[in-house]
Amino acid sequence: MIAAVREVSVFGDAIAYFNEAANLLDLDAGLRRLLLQPSRQIIFAIPFQRDSGELEVYTGYRVQYNFARGPAKGGIRFHPGVTLDEVTALAFWMTWKCAVVDLPFGGGKGGVTCDPGSLSKGELERITRRYAAELVEVVGPDKDVPAPDVGTTPQIMGWFMDTYSMHVRQHTPGVVTGKPLILGGSRGRVEATGRGVSLVAFAQMKKMDLPLVNSRIVVQGFGNVGSVAAQMFAERGCLVVGISDVSGGYANDRGIDVAAAIAYVRDHGSLAGFGGGEHVSNGALLEMACDVLVPAALEKQLTLENASRIHAKLIVEGANGPTTPEADHVLTERGIVVIPDILANAGGVTVSYFEWAQDRAGFFWKEAEVNARLADIMESNFAHIAELATLRGVSLRTAAYMIAIDRVVQSMEARGVYA
Ligand code: NAD
Repeated sequence: MIAAVREVSVFGDAIAYFNEAANLLDLDAGLRRLLLQPSRQIIFAIPFQRDSGELEVYTGYRVQYNFARGPAKGGIRFHPGVTLDEVTALAFWMTWKCAVVDLPFGGGKGGVTCDPGSLSKGELERITRRYAAELVEVVGPDKDVPAPDVGTTPQIMGWFMDTYSMHVRQHTPGVVTGKPLILGGSRGRVEATGRGVSLVAFAQMKKMDLPLVNSRIVVQGFGNVGSVAAQMFAERGCLVVGISDVSGGYANDRGIDVAAAIAYVRDHGSLAGFGGGEHVSNGALLEMACDVLVPAALEKQLTLENASRIHAKLIVEGANGPTTPEADHVLTERGIVVIPDILANAGGVTVSYFEWAQDRAGFFWKEAEVNARLADIMESNFAHIAELATLRGVSLRTAAYMIAIDRVVQSMEARGVYA
């Protein structure tokens, strides 16, 4: 039976945002059609052996959305919810994210539909190596450069780099970013996305005359992005009053000890059982009264259903696609400022770009240099977007898309379309 109401796909959400900005630009109709189509989508079987000896088969994806500005760039997600639709939306967003911070990359994304928490280290390694082996012909430092995303780690990037290097018979650290330091990773990469989230949040808080000290921050998702962002807010005197992960939310009006929460997750694998705050549901956490809400888990967390009950002054999208377009309209009408994902979480791909550049030069930078260059890119592009938003009377999201689309289209026009 066909359901009466079909949920809009993640790619559908992404296209809705694109269209809002594209309608304000004088775009050639043919180029616009081309931008709504991924360049390449790859789906493949990943057979692997369980520790028990049993043969299991998972599905792997890689989408290379656009190459106009350079090699495809984007993470690999290991999660039970991975679908072609989701990976395509994430690759589409990567195209705009790389352009918004003016990096010489196109957009890509990949994933495996699996639950990494249920897999042993050996099983994860075998899945990763088979995933990389399937993609040997289409990835590479000048073709497509993956990185970590939900459920993947520097160790997984190390296995990817090794498998690729073995196949091409050449040490190739620049095929993937987010690697361990010892394999040509960049200093500051692990913290880069959360650091970038906090940098644009601080810049917008200043514009809104919101003092940092004792401002109330809520962070959904306590992985790579959420935990680092929470730490950066706490370091500047903000009160992190709520955090959450798959195990639920933890609220503390006097401020959560973020360092203790990070240590707890390191020792226990998740926040389950964390005693530093009152246990609340993930839904209730999002609706807590606060100055800044940072959704840093997955897509579609702020929806038409809960948008009218969000009590933040500022939302900084650490995750990709956490706000549906319908919710975005409600939030905007209610005067809640949203810093969009394609800008807010671009710190990760920015330091990935630094890593790629360092690997190719074989010359590595100090952490202070990485962080200074990251701050320069995030703050200058934020200022540029905020200025356009004011000038055109549009949201930060629409302004960010307008700048990104314009940069990609300029590259396409300068190259010409090989039709
Ligand atoms: P991660 O796997 O390190 O952490 C994800 C966190 O979200 C975990 O704490 C998990 O428990 C939690 N989570 C999952 N489902 C949840 C739910 N329903 N409610 C509450 N919490 C939930 O992943 P990450 O790398 O931190 O990525 C988080 C988001 O940021 C994703 O949207 C990702 O695409 C985006 N992102 C990541 C990077 C990066 O560099 N890692 C860069 C840009 C964007």
